[in-house]
Amino acid sequence: MPRLTRTNPSTKVNFSKHNIFSKIAGSDNYFIVNLLTGNADILSADEGNQLSEFLKGSINNPALQKELEAKGYIMPEEDEKRLYRAKYLDFIDAREKDEVQLFFVPNYSCNFACTYCYQDEYANPREHTGREVVDAFFNYIGVEFAGRKKYITIFGGEPLLNSASQKEQIRYLLEKSNEAGLEVCVVTNGYSLEEYIDILKTGLIREIQVTLDGTAAVHNQRRFLKGGGPTFDKIVKGVDACLANNLPVNLRMVADRENISDLPGLAKFAIDRRWTLNPLFKTQLGRNYELHHCQATPNNLFSRISLYEAIFDLLQDHPYILEFFKPAFSISKFLAENGNLPDPLFDGCPACKTEWAFDYTGHIFPCTATVGKADESLGTFYPELSRNISRINEWENRDVTSIDGCSSCSLQLACGGGCGSVAKNRTGQVCSTDCRPVKELLELGFATYLNT
Ligand code: SF4
Ligand code: SF4
Repeated sequence: MPRLTRTNPSTKVNFSKHNIFSKIAGSDNYFIVNLLTGNADILSADEGNQLSEFLKGSINNPALQKELEAKGYIMPEEDEKRLYRAKYLDFIDAREKDEVQLFFVPNYSCNFACTYCYQDEYANPREHTGREVVDAFFNYIGVEFAGRKKYITIFGGEPLLNSASQKEQIRYLLEKSNEAGLEVCVVTNGYSLEEYIDILKTGLIREIQVTLDGTAAVHNQRRFLKGGGPTFDKIVKGVDACLANNLPVNLRMVADRENISDLPGLAKFAIDRRWTLNPLFKTQLGRNYELHHCQATPNNLFSRISLYEAIFDLLQDHPYILEFFKPAFSISKFLAENGNLPDPLFDGCPACKTEWAFDYTGHIFPCTATVGKADESLGTFYPELSRNISRINEWENRDVTSIDGCSSCSLQLACGGGCGSVAKNRTGQVCSTDCRPVKELLELGFATYLNT
């Protein structure tokens, strides 16, 4: 960026409303990102200070203005609107070709009694899914999502319960998925994985998602068997068995203030066990949050930004955590790994667009966050077909162009309006905001991945 000289107040220029500009955490440098035009830059302290003044309109510098125009940080309002419309249409087109994730819940029952389970208040009136429900599910998705790329995710409760009848149900689900040529993910607590390996090997398994909340002592305090009893060692053996049998594992840690300090310990455990060297192994970290009812200990919960601040702090002392888990820090990880920004995100919530959920009672729901909540049902696929079209439309139409409050937000193309379910829990409206701390996350992400 050129050096600036202070002159008369500038003629008015149109700074793109999609510029995200801030200081990199722990550094004197700044960043500027614009997801509409796909540009991102790191600025020295001097350049950043001058740009701050320029953004306030207190500096007139034709050379800087020219450079900002060339990169689309300044552009005529009409051009910006035109580009926004074009990119929005591209987004809708791409989404229509996107793969759809179809969750199926064969039961809500579980053999664990995790301290923070949001499903512990669900009624579990019936343990077993009849074949006719599974058949109805495959008939429904075969018609409704004909011609769409799709895959199935088996979810619970705990779908891999160690009983003969449950094993039979999972075997049948995999058989039907094979017939339909569909890959399957399984979300499990991992306790009975070893007992399921032979059954899982009959399916086109894309991934097994297993949760470990820390090393043995920490995990066992949070995720124990109903009636008590540790689960860590058995889950670890299950993960080993999956990897040994070429079943990809996605290890998830659910984090709050109670266990975050064990992230370095869990990372070290996975590294020492050579999991992190296995191309079939990946990880994710989920924030424990109040989904449906009050947590026993809500003070333990992180806000979105405080979780990532805690991870950022841990990374300073334990950089090897990155071998185990690389936080996204909004779009920073993507930018660092790909050398370019992702496409603008006009909608961060896939519910009723590229995600649907179905359960063994025959009900249809928008997504995993809403599945099993009677008042969130959108209709039934069994025993008969029924659909609440106006409620489905409400979910389908939700994006940053339809949410009041998002239209003037500079973060919209990174945030996408957040989660419809969280928004609805907060305001009663699906079509309302669930704000993401994009700027603060980018401050941390640029510091972690890009400020070199
Ligand atoms: S949800 Fe909030 S942060 Fe996200 S785009 Fe809308 S107004 Fe902006
Ligand atoms: S409502 Fe929330 S949890 Fe459900 S699909 Fe949307 S973003 Fe995901």
